[in-house]
Amino acid sequence: MSSPLPRSVDTADVDGRTILLRADLNVPLEGGRVADDTRIRASLPTLRLLLDRGAREVRVCSHLGRPKSEEDRARYAMEPVRARLRELVPDERVTVLENTRFNPGETKNDTDFARRLADGCDLYVDDAFGSAHRAHSSTVGVAELLPAYAGLLLLDELRNLGRLLGDIERPFVLVSGGAKVEDKLGVLQHLGSRADSVLIGGKMAEDVRGENPFDFDPVLPTDVVAASAFAEDAESRVTPFDALPDGWLGLDIGPESRVVFARAITQAQTVFWNGPMGVFEWPRFAEGTVAVARALAECAGFTVVGGGDSVRAVHEAGVAEQVSWISTGGGASLELLEGKELPGVAAIPVAA
Ligand code: AMP
Repeated sequence: MSSPLPRSVDTADVDGRTILLRADLNVPLEGGRVADDTRIRASLPTLRLLLDRGAREVRVCSHLGRPKSEEDRARYAMEPVRARLRELVPDERVTVLENTRFNPGETKNDTDFARRLADGCDLYVDDAFGSAHRAHSSTVGVAELLPAYAGLLLLDELRNLGRLLGDIERPFVLVSGGAKVEDKLGVLQHLGSRADSVLIGGKMAEDVRGENPFDFDPVLPTDVVAASAFAEDAESRVTPFDALPDGWLGLDIGPESRVVFARAITQAQTVFWNGPMGVFEWPRFAEGTVAVARALAECAGFTVVGGGDSVRAVHEAGVAEQVSWISTGGGASLELLEGKELPGVAAIPVAA
């Protein structure tokens, strides 16, 4: 079952207050600039709400990358993020603090660092769903020092992902793929036993065919696009899944499997998709993944995509608008869907 929601920033009295806002501004950088500002944009509704309601000052903090050495300080400085945020919200009341992970106390949930962050602030708002599975100073420590509220994005993530844990509309179809089974094992086990069908493609399908780690029987591809080598321009042909020529690799689900997977998805009332059907980075092996993305777009039910590669695939297929919810949190969405409590969420009092 899904847990009660934390109290919303919408209920906080922010007029004239100084607010510490933990956002997820962990964006990709390229050549000293923000390469993709999706996460910055996703944090704007909460920031704007605080400003519209008369906040005196909003101090935005976030981690950026995984700085380890002294040289990493230049590479992961917040300046490019600060500059982009200033373009999007030109308001002098907004300041962006330096990368929280520059302080070694951050990842240890160090109280002294939490005190420094909280110093001079009246309220704490956590909107960083992508970091909610980590008990750090900026996600948990500060919530113990200041009155804490959940931001709008954090709540949207909890509501949408929470629907998959609550009373689901059936048929409920789970679609998974990619290369690594271990990362998704917990989610597949937890949600898979509630699903009406679990469709598995990608490299994962081969592992599962060898030894099924689940206590349900997933639907595997019947045909694959086989390639003579792991290369973009390798010789390739469609073969039955169980008749791969010796030394060949299945790099995508085949046309027959695409039809079967797409039919199950379009007829579902609830779908969760995580993990590509093949090596979709190479166009010749992307068709299975694109077929799943399009089927998701056609499905009239509640459709959720989580995980970097599947998110990228729905954008590349041009169907992001037709998907009900695209999760911004990788590890956090997986942990939530595994049924685990997220420390960043548990640190905020529940809604009255
Ligand atoms: P993951 O991080 O586990 O979701 O794996 C994503 C990666 O799996 C992508 O980079 C895909 O190229 C790769 N992948 C998907 N299917 C296959 C496959 N059949 N063989 C090799 N790699 C694959």
